[in-house]
Amino acid sequence: MEVFKEMTDGDHEEVVFCADKASGLRAIIAINSTKLGPAIGGCRFMAYHSEAEAIQDALRLAKAMTYKSAVSGLDYGGGKAVIIKHESGRERDLLFKKFGVFVESLKGKYITTVDSGTTMIDMENIRSETSYVTGIPTERSGLGDPSPITARGVVWGMKACLFELYGNDSLNNKVVAIQGVGNVGYYLALLLQKEGARLIVADIHEERTKRLANEIKVEIVSPEQICLQEVDILSPCALASTVNKKMIPFFKCKIIAGAANNQLSKDSDAELLVQKGIVYAPDYVINAGGLIHVVAEYEGQRMEYVHDVVSKIYQRMRNILSLSREKNIPTNRIADLMVQEKIHKLP
Ligand code: NAD
Repeated sequence: MEVFKEMTDGDHEEVVFCADKASGLRAIIAINSTKLGPAIGGCRFMAYHSEAEAIQDALRLAKAMTYKSAVSGLDYGGGKAVIIKHESGRERDLLFKKFGVFVESLKGKYITTVDSGTTMIDMENIRSETSYVTGIPTERSGLGDPSPITARGVVWGMKACLFELYGNDSLNNKVVAIQGVGNVGYYLALLLQKEGARLIVADIHEERTKRLANEIKVEIVSPEQICLQEVDILSPCALASTVNKKMIPFFKCKIIAGAANNQLSKDSDAELLVQKGIVYAPDYVINAGGLIHVVAEYEGQRMEYVHDVVSKIYQRMRNILSLSREKNIPTNRIADLMVQEKIHKLP
């Protein structure tokens, strides 16, 4: 892997390699852009097949954070950290404290938060070494789990898409298929039920669909069947690349709007969706509630402020849909162009 080529190709500013013998820490902090403000983005704790894979993951995710932050109107740039998980588990608290020392050394250029494989407890450990961290439990003066707010933003995004299709944004009696009812999917189902939607859900962990079925009325289908349902909205809330060339011909939904990051396996998949008449809500536009939540916590804001900023996803998504229709350009491309225009205007 040619790191500098990857960096220049992706317009990345800086990559920091962090190593510490005592704790066994091996981490990469990728700073994609600080043009709009300090780079913010989660810290992953995962096993990787190779160091190159870890670097690529950090770079790709850091860039996505730049886009998410910019499109959401936040004065922050994009960054991401990955801590490479060891076969032999070392002491977790020490690992995250040492990571905090590296975050501190960047003097606020990068602000870290929770991501796949990390918890709010890990953020507490990071906080013992640096203040450039957010995503702290409510009982420790943070705003707690961002997942309910991410779900709320997804609902706003769905409503904007419904308006585009039906001229009315009511979810009442609309059928929504949710792929993955983990942190975000669970809260999304609760919100949609309150709006009068009919729900079809699937998860590879049976206990997650059962937990939901014990609380609200849902139809449970297998993970293999969820994307094939005839529904108004398909909501990917599980993993990346649900929307791909192989699956698109089988989709029977009118809208795709979910929380998962990188839902399209390729940008060009959006054109296939347009050909099928499926309205796509770009993932990073409507799943920004979590980012808005952690930024608000970092800035010492309250939940009322978070709800207010997240509600703006509705109008933002409506604007993207209008521009997409007028210019005959897919929604994901419109969102990307909006971000690029904003960033490239800056010195
Ligand atoms: P999670 O791990 O809690 O939930 C994902 C769920 O999907 C799990 O229950 C898992 O069992 C299930 N799943 C995995 N593969 C599946 C499959 N093939 N079919 C059906 N179910 C499957 O994660 P989460 O925090 O709910 O996040 C979901 C997605 O949203 C991720 O892509 C995440 O990056 C993204 N996201 C989350 C947040 C947040 O606030 N948590 C914010 C922005 C984006």
